[in-house]
Amino acid sequence: MNVTLRKKLHELAELSGREKKTAEFVSNYLQGLDPDEVVTGIGGHGVAAVFNGVEPGPGPRVLLRAELDALPIPEGAEFSYASKTPGVSHKCGHDGHMAIVLAVAEMLAARSIKKGSVVLLFQPAEEIGQGAGWVIEDEKFEDLKPDWVFGLHNLPGFPFGQVIMRRGVFASASVGLKVKLEGATSHAAEPHQGRSPAQAVAQAIQALSAVPQFQTALHEASKVTVIHARLGAPAFGTSPGEAEVMATLRAHRGDVLDRIKDKCMSMLQAIAMAENLKMESSWVEEFPSTVNHDDAVEYVEAAAEHLGMDIARQDVPFPWSEDFGNYTKNIRGAFWGLGAGLKHPALHHPNYDFPDDLLDRGASLFEEILRRVVGFEDRKVT
Ligand SMILES: [Zn+2]
Ligand SMILES: [Zn+2]
Repeated sequence: MNVTLRKKLHELAELSGREKKTAEFVSNYLQGLDPDEVVTGIGGHGVAAVFNGVEPGPGPRVLLRAELDALPIPEGAEFSYASKTPGVSHKCGHDGHMAIVLAVAEMLAARSIKKGSVVLLFQPAEEIGQGAGWVIEDEKFEDLKPDWVFGLHNLPGFPFGQVIMRRGVFASASVGLKVKLEGATSHAAEPHQGRSPAQAVAQAIQALSAVPQFQTALHEASKVTVIHARLGAPAFGTSPGEAEVMATLRAHRGDVLDRIKDKCMSMLQAIAMAENLKMESSWVEEFPSTVNHDDAVEYVEAAAEHLGMDIARQDVPFPWSEDFGNYTKNIRGAFWGLGAGLKHPALHHPNYDFPDDLLDRGASLFEEILRRVVGFEDRKVT
């Protein structure tokens, strides 16, 4: 059943912020399960189902998150359920995460929560680091705001079904930097008549790459990766008049990221000024670090232990980023990995496909967490 659902969602693959058909499919499916409420259009195409407990009075509200979006990566292999959107496919396994949370919805439709409520959130635009922020800023989220938030991500390169957990920082903070430099073109025979950004681009690449070395201590893990640079045009007769440099900054901690952001910006301004260039810059795709709360981690670990799942506690945070950190900034929560197999193709690789055998494990784990936070009646109370 859930394998069929996962494959259907795989076919629907849509890019971040454009998850219209996927959201419609999910909300129709949820409506069919008759929850207390289905909210659509949260932060764009976000969808949430609310299941309330049967005991009167306030109780904890728990939110489980799945992601709606796919990636601009074509399918690397042929399957019967291949993406129907050209050049776009589910190479991060968000189809699987949605199927897991839909399985939890089926379970909640069949039995009653004791006290409190459960929100199943299908969030848009995770891959571009925007979706969680859009959801949180949407006024519809005011009524859904939970006391606890939980989310998982399948992780290739780890033993199948293993729970990969960490207290404190789980995934790093990161941000993209775009810098445009503008001088003036001239004849290539007379570069001194123009203002070429060539030296500035060379200096910027070196200066950005050196930031972690000279601006952070050994324990303050950080990286600056220059990901793109372009200078003028391929015309032998022209000395260039404009350029662009892009880099990704990351750090385990948000305060370290803020510090290296400031440093990168002041260095680039100094370089542009020295070369008499106009500079425009912007920060894009900002992800806060995902910080797990100890009490939430304990719920997850107790649930995993109860199910006999292997738990691997990570010594260091993951270097990649997740927009789940937007929730855990203000809400107690935990985010963890679910091993997709040591040899499974990596996330975002064209040959990646979500391993269906993980669906039941993911859903059981969420069920056990909910049992601990809100509790279940033995049978459906109507
Ligand atoms: Zn991804
Ligand atoms: Zn993902």
